[in-house]
Amino acid sequence: MASPKRVVIIGGGISGLSAAFALYERAGNDNAPLQCTVVEGQDRFGGKIVTHHRDGLIMEGGPDSFLTTKPAGLALCEKLGLTSQLINTKTENAHTFTYSKGRLRQFPQGLIAMVPTKVGPLFRSGVLSWPGIVRMGADWIIPRRPRTKDEETLAEFFSRRLGSEAFNRLIEPLVSGIYAGDANELSVDATFPQLVELERKYGSLIKGAVAMQRARSSHGPTTTARTLFTTLRGGLGDLIGSLEDRLSGAGVSLCRGTNVQAVQAAGSGPGPPYRIELEGGDRLEAEAVILATPAYVSAEFLRPFDEPAALALDGIPYASTMTISMVFPEPAVKSLIRGYGFVVPRIENRSLIAATWSSMKWAERAPVGQCLVRCYLGGRGREPLLDLDDTELTERARRELETIAGIQSLPLHVEVYRWPRAMPQYTRGHRERVRHIRERVARHPGLYVTGAAYDGIGIPDCIRDAEQTAAKLSAYLWDRVS
Ligand SMILES: Cc1cc2nc3c(=O)[nH]c(=O)nc-3n(C[C@H](O)[C@H](O)[C@H](O)COP(=O)(O)OP(=O)(O)OC[C@H]3O[C@@H](n4cnc5c(N)ncnc54)[C@H](O)[C@@H]3O)c2cc1C
Repeated sequence: MASPKRVVIIGGGISGLSAAFALYERAGNDNAPLQCTVVEGQDRFGGKIVTHHRDGLIMEGGPDSFLTTKPAGLALCEKLGLTSQLINTKTENAHTFTYSKGRLRQFPQGLIAMVPTKVGPLFRSGVLSWPGIVRMGADWIIPRRPRTKDEETLAEFFSRRLGSEAFNRLIEPLVSGIYAGDANELSVDATFPQLVELERKYGSLIKGAVAMQRARSSHGPTTTARTLFTTLRGGLGDLIGSLEDRLSGAGVSLCRGTNVQAVQAAGSGPGPPYRIELEGGDRLEAEAVILATPAYVSAEFLRPFDEPAALALDGIPYASTMTISMVFPEPAVKSLIRGYGFVVPRIENRSLIAATWSSMKWAERAPVGQCLVRCYLGGRGREPLLDLDDTELTERARRELETIAGIQSLPLHVEVYRWPRAMPQYTRGHRERVRHIRERVARHPGLYVTGAAYDGIGIPDCIRDAEQTAAKLSAYLWDRVS
């Protein structure tokens, strides 16, 4: 039997672990000998995914759920035998609020792909003024933009089509909740290409959204048992735990608490093409390496042997965020919290980006008699918040909960999670930057990059990209077409 191919995956977040899982599946299917090591710098796997259990509470420090419309997340859960553990959002509370002009207002029903399609709910919500609604309606007649023009930012695209009020009050807070970004920087082509396509196809976002809705209804009532977002009964940490179990059971070496310090291309001499230097002086050798680290870390690994790739990776900016889980006695907040929570438009000048009433959105997040609230703060342009200590940060979030939702009670328990340089920002030129990075990296056989920095920041996007990377790598190692 041929000697096993050695692969080192650097970074044990969802991208690195799913790449390892996909690679092992492929190797197992083809009886191809493989020796894989995942090296993670922190003393736990999961990266941005971290679930904390305490006294009957299930608190998510990073993501709390994933989209079901992108299949890779559900499919991975299926392979791991976790499907029965997936839970839906509580449908009885299915509405969200936005903080607008001094109070919480229900987000209008009838948004399709973020685009409002019904005037009635929009008017009743009070989120937009009449002139704002009329301006938004002009989207029906504003001509489509010629293809040849420069890439637009999200702010330019939505303000041009729907008007600045609709952009600032409806679209911006939704976008901030996803990217923690500044819509004046984010590229619409890189973040919402489907909306650019809607304009191209229908000449109007509203027309396109209505057509999408008709197409959906013409397929008859949906039979899917899943809500738009799902999570695991015990929290998303169970996805990581399950991947760890399966990988170690398959013989993958999982090495944590060890930072990789450098990757060296060994050149054309004998021996494998890559040497991976670990902190503490150990070293690994491998025929192939996957960099599943944030872009700015991957840049440092690549710099010694591909400066242009490193420069392009450095060109991907990151936003810093924080989440604060607070537990309140239920009687003190019961009358104040409705729906799943609220978002805060940037023009309201608050520290909160959003707050989720986690125990209203998901079952079994808090023991009976307690409410779990998750505050989301920071984002692009609000980095100084990170300098506050936990007490100041918590007090700021609590005061905003008081102003916005009327919560005066003090929390029974608080957990603060800080995420410096956590969210890659797909700014103008992102798609071209990623194309260039992939083209440069492809010049080094057996070297790959994957992760949230490239083609989608959501968990299903990361899993899909990791699986595609594993397919390319196995084709390279075992000379098959993927
Ligand atoms: C607060 C927050 C909320 C979010 N909410 C959602 C949500 O609800 N739904 C959703 O789909 N997505 C959400 N996201 C996005 C999603 O969680 C991330 O994009 C995704 O988890 C990134 O996974 P990754 O493996 O690519 O990167 P990471 O999770 O960052 O993993 C990279 C790993 O590399 C390791 N590493 C770095 N340097 C080294 C080194 N030198 N040596 C070894 N290891 C190293 C890191 O320690 C880390 O574990 C959220 C993100 C944040 C921060």
